[in-house]
Amino acid sequence: MKAPIRLLCALALGLASLSAADKPNIVFIFSDDHALQAISSYGSRYAKMAPTPNIDRIAKEGLLFERSYCGNAICGPSRATILTGKHSHKNGFMDNNFSRFDGAQPTFPKMLQEAGYETAIIGKWHLISNPTGFDYWEVLPGQGAYFNPDFIQMDGSKKRFEGYCTDLITDKSIAWLEGRKDKSKPFVLMSQHKAPHRHWFPPVRHMNLFDDITMPEPETLFDDYANRSDALKNQQMAIAKDFSWGEDMFLHGDKEDPRFSPLFGGNKGFIGEYRRMNEEQKKAFDEAYVGENNELRKKLKAGMSDEELTRWKYQRYIKNYLRTIRALDENVGRLLKHLDESGLAENTIVIYSSDQGFYLGEHGWYDKRWMFEESLSMPFIIRWPGMIQPGENVIRTSRAMIQNIDYAPTLLDICGAPIPEDMQGTSMVPVLKNQGEAPKGWRDAIYYMYSGEWTHRVAKHDGVRTNRHKLMHFPGAKNRPDEWMLFDLEKDPQEMESVAKDPAYADTLEQMKELYAQLRQQHHVSSSTYPMQRWDEKWWKQRWDQKRKEAGTSKARQAKVVFIGDSITQGWEGKGREHWAEHFEALGALNWGYSGDRTEHVIWRMQNGDVQRVNPEVAVLMIGTNNTGHGLRPAKETAMGIQKIIEDLAWKWPDTRVILTAIFPRGATPDDPKRRRNSEINALIKPLADGKRVFWQDINQEFLDEKGNLSQEVMPDLLHLNADSYAIWAKAVSGKLHELGVTGD
Ligand code: CA
Repeated sequence: MKAPIRLLCALALGLASLSAADKPNIVFIFSDDHALQAISSYGSRYAKMAPTPNIDRIAKEGLLFERSYCGNAICGPSRATILTGKHSHKNGFMDNNFSRFDGAQPTFPKMLQEAGYETAIIGKWHLISNPTGFDYWEVLPGQGAYFNPDFIQMDGSKKRFEGYCTDLITDKSIAWLEGRKDKSKPFVLMSQHKAPHRHWFPPVRHMNLFDDITMPEPETLFDDYANRSDALKNQQMAIAKDFSWGEDMFLHGDKEDPRFSPLFGGNKGFIGEYRRMNEEQKKAFDEAYVGENNELRKKLKAGMSDEELTRWKYQRYIKNYLRTIRALDENVGRLLKHLDESGLAENTIVIYSSDQGFYLGEHGWYDKRWMFEESLSMPFIIRWPGMIQPGENVIRTSRAMIQNIDYAPTLLDICGAPIPEDMQGTSMVPVLKNQGEAPKGWRDAIYYMYSGEWTHRVAKHDGVRTNRHKLMHFPGAKNRPDEWMLFDLEKDPQEMESVAKDPAYADTLEQMKELYAQLRQQHHVSSSTYPMQRWDEKWWKQRWDQKRKEAGTSKARQAKVVFIGDSITQGWEGKGREHWAEHFEALGALNWGYSGDRTEHVIWRMQNGDVQRVNPEVAVLMIGTNNTGHGLRPAKETAMGIQKIIEDLAWKWPDTRVILTAIFPRGATPDDPKRRRNSEINALIKPLADGKRVFWQDINQEFLDEKGNLSQEVMPDLLHLNADSYAIWAKAVSGKLHELGVTGD
């Protein structure tokens, strides 16, 4: 059926349309926090009373992935991973507290633009910086609002629109589809919803939906967290204790019971959505909830047990959550209908996904973050006309294990664009062409890492999941050893008991730990590559703030050289001061040395700073001796950290050349273990210098005598330079800069 239409178009419109027809369009419908347990085609426990027929239609006409996971179960990080095809530590967006997406880095929309695609994103973005790589964008600021939301426009201004967010995002998506100037160009439209994200404000039309129904509870609503890490008890995402009176539970006025959270809007009524509503919306809202609210107040006065109150909170929560989903599903239907009616459907791939899963009362929780199944899972449903054959009478499903790092390579592959080697995911196209069957050699395990941001107090953890088992690791702290949990998902799908200490699982535990180490290596995760800040150290934060301020000045913009490193670099401000003045001041050089920094801190600084406001001709990088000093970390890991810095600099400062400096010798003699470790690192990083962008400089011999000994006259503490040693380094760097044609005129 398809070929004649294609041919016709090609004849009518010429060659351009031939390539357009060969390249399918993509509509990526993305929601926020939509749990599999609330999607009928995934077997939702609410399927009877709250079905999702339109999302299910995509599954019926395409393919549903049963084993689809994220790499970090929170909003911003999942989105950054989708754009880059890389885990959080690689793309720099690790949490929703501190991270800011650096839009200068390579992303799949940019690559699709290069491949001739028109790209658009409408709706929730949540990556702090403005979108890059899109021909058209119109996004919600931060979390956005359900009622009468603002949208950031492409000129940076904010514009408020009357209406309900989910409806507006679809209106705008359809308007964009209709308004495309060059209809022969293939496109990617990312239509991204706020719903069903907290706080769950339904549209007026659905505020009374489910009023007479009691929603089923999950079996683990009253989980006591026995047989697992104490971390499970220490969170702030429990239905019983962490819902606020107003914003979460929709009760007006001051809270009347201590069993509501003082956080998240606090004790006093509404903080956001209600205030945004117009009078009509407020009236509808008040009327919709007043009856139930008064009933609750009466019950509270009469004395309500903890269990009874938790059940009430669960019902209030889940109904509102499902009400926002009703609107979401309706809007998925509207968009599908538009594709049908406009004739686009035939050559358009439709994907439905959500940034991670969510707890709908399982383990007594709402929210996400954990590596447990409910939040680890992401819906992934795809319709590809002509490629994926719909199942007969039953939804076609795939058991191939996929992760959100796969989305970017998959979309590039579908659109015929090359997949960059440093993307960490794998194209799913072979699985799609195979009607969901995983080809031989397809992955059988995924790696996961949650950063431990302060919101909801979920401890930092990482781990691996195979088809049968899940290993979770909680790093230790000063008075706490490392902790491991192991789950047998076949015997214990609800993850109620860790078998990490069960002798019957000793072998499995060992194998899983081995796999964990392997996957960390494969994905370049180690203490040396995982970005870290040091904000708990006041001076460090102050220096960071001061350097960031400095980066915004016109003087900094003219800097020809930036030094990046640790205390040895920072020392140019102390013992090296005079030589710095003599050699580098005329170049406007900046000193980004921070005492005690290791590679992970530099990675964090490069990813999170306003690095792009500066554009030096040369960066002088020396880092790593503190990785060695800190428990003599393996040289390979430190080298990987340095490699990561050099990779990041390539897209931060594409025109900047790097003088990669061999880590200076330390310790008195050549057989000093730390000296030897530094030498090993130097041997590993030297090949990173390609002589085009990265230049190697090793002046270590100049600090040593002929036997390789380091004297205290050169480095008084056998680690840091004195003024004379800084003179040596200054001269060497000057010489290299001269070679590279960087002068102070
Ligand atoms: Ca989310």
